[in-house]
Amino acid sequence: MEEIRYRSTRNEKDVVTASQAILNGLSRDGGLYMPEKIPALDIVPAVLAGLSYQETAYEVMRRFYTDFTEEELKYCIAHAYDSKFDTEEIAPLAEADGAYYLELFHGPTIAFKDMALSILPYLMTTAAKKNEIRNEIVILTATSGDTGKAALAGFADVPRTKIIVFFPEDGVSPVQKKQMVTQKGDNTFVVGVRGNFDDCQSGVKAMFGDKGLEAELDRKGYQFSSANSINIGRLIPQVVYYVYAYGRLLAGRKIREGEAIHVVVPTGNFGNILAAYLAKGMGIPIERLICASNDNRVLTDFFETGVYDKNRPFVLTSSPSMDILISSNLERLIYEIAGKDAEKTSALMERLKSEGRYELTADMREKLGDFVGGSAAEAEVSAEIAGVYQKTGYLLDTHTAVASKVYRDYVGRTGDAKKAVIASTASPYKFTRSVMTAVDPAYGAMGDFELADALSRLSKTEVPRAIEEIRSAEVLHKTVCEVDGMETEVRRFLGL
Ligand SMILES: *Cc1c(COP(=O)(O)O)cnc(C)c1O
Repeated sequence: MEEIRYRSTRNEKDVVTASQAILNGLSRDGGLYMPEKIPALDIVPAVLAGLSYQETAYEVMRRFYTDFTEEELKYCIAHAYDSKFDTEEIAPLAEADGAYYLELFHGPTIAFKDMALSILPYLMTTAAKKNEIRNEIVILTATSGDTGKAALAGFADVPRTKIIVFFPEDGVSPVQKKQMVTQKGDNTFVVGVRGNFDDCQSGVKAMFGDKGLEAELDRKGYQFSSANSINIGRLIPQVVYYVYAYGRLLAGRKIREGEAIHVVVPTGNFGNILAAYLAKGMGIPIERLICASNDNRVLTDFFETGVYDKNRPFVLTSSPSMDILISSNLERLIYEIAGKDAEKTSALMERLKSEGRYELTADMREKLGDFVGGSAAEAEVSAEIAGVYQKTGYLLDTHTAVASKVYRDYVGRTGDAKKAVIASTASPYKFTRSVMTAVDPAYGAMGDFELADALSRLSKTEVPRAIEEIRSAEVLHKTVCEVDGMETEVRRFLGL
């Protein structure tokens, strides 16, 4: 296997191994790590069609994480993709209304972040061992809801790690809060902050940048790390399900060998769709990468005009995980279409920081040909949920519905009849109120758990464990602090 190394998008001199990239998270210059080249998958279709999820994961990861041994990767994969998922398929494909919904929500927190956060702790502890890091890893995270719980679930009880999550005490949904404060595991610590998400984020960043604290931690045998979505340890595990989906389509004889498909992704931070781009780079015949946005349509405009402009109002929508104006992982695509030119990428990112906007050169725009942007407004999202349900009995969550609507618009506009895989990023049980009132506004009168039961009857699916658990779970984390008290809480938990 050819060795793949990782390079910062902002400094061509920062070249590291896969395990170092996972440990570092971000490059010191602020850039993101990209593989020097995208390895070819080179597996014949007949074999690909027969691989399980875990086998597919191994085939993809061994090509990217070339400094991990077979034994190490298989250990990580076996511990990540096990019975914490409620189906052996891990990521099943559901056919409804002429499209294939790739269900990425069968993990412990019923949203797609589980696909990567269930393996990241194992990759990270393995990487630490490999690089002879003796300290215990302390994951420090600020969350606006979804990532915090998925990271907690992933790191809970993983040996030689601790995880500390800060969330805005009054800034997350009741279900999200309950999910976090009931988290089990002696190595977990969850703190509500009297402030907003930006306060939490700034507090965490300040601790990451504090050299004195770093030295103190080191003396105690600890070091901080991040479970942020820009970590290459989260990106590569997301390539797996696109490869797997293609194999499933082959196995089900839905497509012929080599037949091209489209992939449609409800997008926020641009991580998920970038993984599809890498799957295409490995050789999976993906023709169009359709990037779906909600009313925060900064990416739609970007693909239409070549101008990225975040100077616009931030809109709160029913698909909150896509309410984002700065899509961090887009930097990786910029780097690629700039011909892996770190200087050019750096300059554009500087402009984004200072002016909130940048424009691509004609050259770079030309290389975006595979991407199509599209957006769906709030009313269209509800109509899509209701429409697909009435036609097929299948219920979409709000994020998936954005993608579904954008795909339908694309077909309407182009008449393109190729098969499409739509990334289904959350269970409808996670956004019960929006989903149920889209079907019938009368459901608005019901309480949250009542709504889950009603959804179960409507969709003829079982209420997921993740929801059942929090009905009766005991609150284990009661700490609340002021914005300037975050470090004190970290010190208390770690005994500094
Ligand atoms: C995080 C998230 C997204 C956005 O994914 P990105 O990789 O950030 O583009 C979409 N849907 C759901 C449900 C999510 O949790």
